[in-house]
Amino acid sequence: MTTVVEHPTDGLSDTQRQIVDLAREFAREHIASHVAEWDRTRTFPRPVIDELGRLGFLGMTVPERHEGMGIDTVTYLLALEEIAAADASIAVSISIQNAIPATMLVRHGSPAQQERWLKPLARGELLVGFALSEPDAGSDPAGMRAQAVRDGEGWVLNGMKAWATNGGTADLMMVMVRTDTPGDRRGAKGISTFIVPTSTPGYRACAPEDKMGLRASNTSTVALEDLRLPAAALLGEEGMGFVYSMEGLDAGRLGIATQAVGIARRALELAVAYCAERRQFDQPLREFQGVQFKLADMATRVAAARALTQSAAARRDRGEDVRQAASMAKLFASETAMWVTTQAVQLFGGYGYMRDFPVEKLFRDAKVTEIYEGTSEIQRIVIARGLYRA
Ligand SMILES: Cc1cc2nc3c(=O)[nH]c(=O)nc-3n(C[C@H](O)[C@H](O)[C@H](O)COP(=O)(O)OP(=O)(O)OC[C@H]3O[C@@H](n4cnc5c(N)ncnc54)[C@H](O)[C@@H]3O)c2cc1C
Repeated sequence: MTTVVEHPTDGLSDTQRQIVDLAREFAREHIASHVAEWDRTRTFPRPVIDELGRLGFLGMTVPERHEGMGIDTVTYLLALEEIAAADASIAVSISIQNAIPATMLVRHGSPAQQERWLKPLARGELLVGFALSEPDAGSDPAGMRAQAVRDGEGWVLNGMKAWATNGGTADLMMVMVRTDTPGDRRGAKGISTFIVPTSTPGYRACAPEDKMGLRASNTSTVALEDLRLPAAALLGEEGMGFVYSMEGLDAGRLGIATQAVGIARRALELAVAYCAERRQFDQPLREFQGVQFKLADMATRVAAARALTQSAAARRDRGEDVRQAASMAKLFASETAMWVTTQAVQLFGGYGYMRDFPVEKLFRDAKVTEIYEGTSEIQRIVIARGLYRA
């Protein structure tokens, strides 16, 4: 049975419903009861990720010919919302893998790279991350400094990549570095993508970051120290890494929008239940019209954020350019998650401020959705630019 705040499943096909139901059941049985502990102990639950991989959730967007689930963006995001509603930390790994490395390898991988890396990724045998940001280049990644230099047939990489999700836990990283030369700087056109097994000598993940939220997700700075790669590690064309990253980020931003919807939906579910139980002035909180109005606004914003995200997903499935639509969805959904979780903490009163109650974690988890894969300010820049595009 679905609750009032879940995505309605009546319009879904049998296949869509089966995938969403599988995600929901898995989240309830294998994730929900552990999240407080994982959050407290900063545990990245690799066995749970591996099990999700065995069920196909790490390769949902990969076509069946590459051994993925081959489902559309709409269905992928509905399944992701179920995981995100249980734990945003697990959802971010699934989102990154399906959106960025998978898109890069499907669109630009050579047949040999697809055989070697994409198929195991799709089968859930490899956890794959994406390293674009650097300590001095976040919103403006084209200003990155990490450098690859030709060495005979291959390459040698040096530099630092910042805040890489799964930087310390992935098997493989898609790493963006400069391939232009100091005498011939080409800005965004001087960046290339390399496929880097994290077991390669010279790949060093620093200690995991101690974060406000998403504490069960590994976030690490990665040092590239004379890391030698063969020519076959270059993805697609030299100098196209920035373009490939932006293509992946269109799908990535829909994943983060969905993560935000999942967080907000869970906060709403908890607030609805709490306001029915908690009594003040001799009646349940839900009897106060001021409380009802707050819950009504929360429910409306969750539904609007999901609708905006699903509409962008449907456009992507039709092959349309969704850069602006993905930014709108990510902007609105992440600000919704922050607003809804703030209201949920307020409705829980003093209990809401306590670690023993789950809305406090949701509030902390929500914040990052306004920051990564482009801050809210960067989304507004993308949206505004789209208003003037011919
Ligand atoms: C938990 C976590 C996981 C992450 N995972 C990854 C990952 O897997 N891979 C990866 O590559 N990166 C990852 N990141 C990095 C993330 O994408 C960056 O933090 C983000 O893009 C912002 O960059 P910055 O932190 O350098 O902030 P800055 O770019 O320094 O921005 C600081 C502030 O200035 C504002 N600002 C910047 N430029 C403008 C402008 N032109 N106009 C108006 N305001 C502006 C920003 O919006 C922000 O408010 C992760 C970050 C976190 C926190």
